[in-house]
Amino acid sequence: MAFGVWLVYAGPAAPAEAAPAGDPRESSLILISLDGFRWDYLELAEPPNLLRLAAAGVRAEGLVPVFPAKTFPSHYSIVTGLYPGRHGILFNRMYDPGMDAVFDLGDRQAVEDPRWWGGEPIWVTAEKQGVRTAAMFWPGTEAEIAGLRPSYWHRFDAGFAYEKRVTQVLAWLDLPAGERPRFITLYFQDPNDTSHDHGPEAPETLAAVREVDARLGDLLRGLDERGLAGRVDLVVVSDHGMAAVAPERVVFVDEIVDFEPGEVFDQGALLQLRPRPGRERLLYEALEGAHPRLAVYRPDEVPEGYRLEAHRRLPPILGVPDLGWQIYTRRGFARYRSPLRGDHGQAPEDPRMHGLLVAAGPSFRPGQVIGRVESVELYNLMAAVLGVEPAPNDGDPARLRHLLAR
Ligand code: AMP
Ligand code: ZN
Repeated sequence: MAFGVWLVYAGPAAPAEAAPAGDPRESSLILISLDGFRWDYLELAEPPNLLRLAAAGVRAEGLVPVFPAKTFPSHYSIVTGLYPGRHGILFNRMYDPGMDAVFDLGDRQAVEDPRWWGGEPIWVTAEKQGVRTAAMFWPGTEAEIAGLRPSYWHRFDAGFAYEKRVTQVLAWLDLPAGERPRFITLYFQDPNDTSHDHGPEAPETLAAVREVDARLGDLLRGLDERGLAGRVDLVVVSDHGMAAVAPERVVFVDEIVDFEPGEVFDQGALLQLRPRPGRERLLYEALEGAHPRLAVYRPDEVPEGYRLEAHRRLPPILGVPDLGWQIYTRRGFARYRSPLRGDHGQAPEDPRMHGLLVAAGPSFRPGQVIGRVESVELYNLMAAVLGVEPAPNDGDPARLRHLLAR
């Protein structure tokens, strides 16, 4: 099948008219995340469906993530238009001193606890304004935020087959008009998971890119079969890129200073330290300047451009190695059966951290190739596509307005 309908939008006159009032098939927006899809995979893997979509719509040179370029903070910035310092999901794992509680992406109770999630994600904005939404996974959709969840949602399950995710999205679009969601998320944990194990440019990673692209192909075919291609907008993104890492590029932090139990709160691409009472200064002074590849920050020293605003969920000491490097204790590193080959989190300004932005459908002017876009700009764009009033956010509503056909 040629997905011909996605190429029809070659002239400015084509698709702009909205569905007639009361039309049972009014338009929907599907936001798709291919976790860890680096911007240059479009060239390296040549995924046919994404390239076809890009040719029919909009393609950005890259999507610049927030800091930290980690799955939870980054996905939540895409849907709120807020930097992590304003939405509160600062890390995949974090401690809140006020709540005296730990958030971890693997902890169901924490992930579903509304107290962690600030700001207003696009599905809440939509539901508040009478637009039904659905989530085939997305960080934040499992918690009640401002009292609302998507009308339809699933508890995250990495084992839920990719094919079934696509089937679920299509099934939602088959619902009768009053029940059908107009905003839908769809999430795949690849190529992220494969590239952590094999490295950003490994054949296995490029195969994972083509696999999620094939699922995108299934979705496009399903839309075509339903005659929906002209009524569905697709925004395909990723939350970060991926940098090659290697056992030779690890800062072993406990070779610099000794820790007491519990002080190393998180490690890997970033180090979070929670010193025992009275030990903060000692640890900070031991680490400051101790390794040429390592920067250490107290909360008010994190580079201003990252907009973390000395958030209370920042650890007392944050260690940030150069991109391509990692930071571990000896024991923390030894926990891996085989060392990671790819990682992410630091340096959102580095092209290796830049993700994907491709969009197409009736709301988008065709054939646009644009420069890099910051991920906080997408909330306003999606609000405009859905025709809802955006909540205050860190994006500039004028920034991507020119992408829209109406
Ligand atoms: P990272 O360590 O930043 O690369 O995180 C990527 C991992 O986040 C993926 O392997 C997913 O399994 C996981 N993940 C994505 N969405 C969710 C979710 N809603 N709940 C729990 N884990 C998730
Ligand atoms: Zn990710």
